[in-house]
Amino acid sequence: MTNIIMKAAPSLLEKMKDHYKQALLEKVPQGGLFVAKTNNCTITAYRSGKVMFQGKNNEMEAAKWGNAEPSKSPTAFKAKTSGSALPENIASMSFIGSDEVGTGDYFGPITVVSAYVRKEHIPLLKELGVKDSKNLTDPQIMKIAKDLLSIIPYSLLKLQNEKYNRLQASGMSQGKMKAILHNQALIHLLKKISPEEPEGILIDQFVEANTYFRHLQGQKEICTNNVYFSTKGESIHIAVAAASILARYAFVKAMDKLSEEAGFTLPKGAGHQVDQAAAKLIQLKGEVSLDHFTKLHFANTEKAKKISESM
Ligand code: MN
Repeated sequence: MTNIIMKAAPSLLEKMKDHYKQALLEKVPQGGLFVAKTNNCTITAYRSGKVMFQGKNNEMEAAKWGNAEPSKSPTAFKAKTSGSALPENIASMSFIGSDEVGTGDYFGPITVVSAYVRKEHIPLLKELGVKDSKNLTDPQIMKIAKDLLSIIPYSLLKLQNEKYNRLQASGMSQGKMKAILHNQALIHLLKKISPEEPEGILIDQFVEANTYFRHLQGQKEICTNNVYFSTKGESIHIAVAAASILARYAFVKAMDKLSEEAGFTLPKGAGHQVDQAAAKLIQLKGEVSLDHFTKLHFANTEKAKKISESM
């Protein structure tokens, strides 16, 4: 089991000590502020601001403190490799946001975008209607994305189906692919904006921080500095919303191109319509063509083959 370590500001340390006042232990290590024991988690806070969470429930316990506004994002917490809780005023800071699209879609690539939003640009982006891409229609996304492209620095990576299928067949999980893509996009973007540095990086959380960094073991370069993770990242910093819009934009464009190649419109998602479309594709171009259009390991492949056989 991995320990979770985060860094807390003095005010947060006081809040924590108060929160755990019923569970405080008498013995405190050198340099320690308090030790508390709750159900399946031991919390050790140090005067330096370091707080360590140990035990079975440590993720849940640490998640309580990951965000200054816990009601907004209860599962936000900081990677243990570069430890501090989300800054209190994160929404108004210059931040890189990172998000991906296409992971649940049978047709089309995975697109990952890291986008840098300087604090001066935040009001303009709000004006343009930048928000979570899930709450926008495709035409709205296309319009906002075109504005964004000329305003903010970003890095876009596309994992095409052939390569996805090769990696997947070699045993790589989708989570690991995503972690590698986010890391690469971040490295590209940091180089692009250098010597300027963001005040932090927020990845829309798809796995917990520890798992994310475990996936990156063996990578030549790993971006760890001021990296934060949070679910619903787009509600925490507008840079994540911008990244999600650009990733969606790239995905929609890729789907348009694939539809053109297929000769008919390929549906998004992984539902029944998708099975039908894949069966049609098998009829038109043969089963072997699925490698180019789809994520082969999805259950849709077998369903489409069955439908195609009865056509
Ligand atoms: Mn996301």
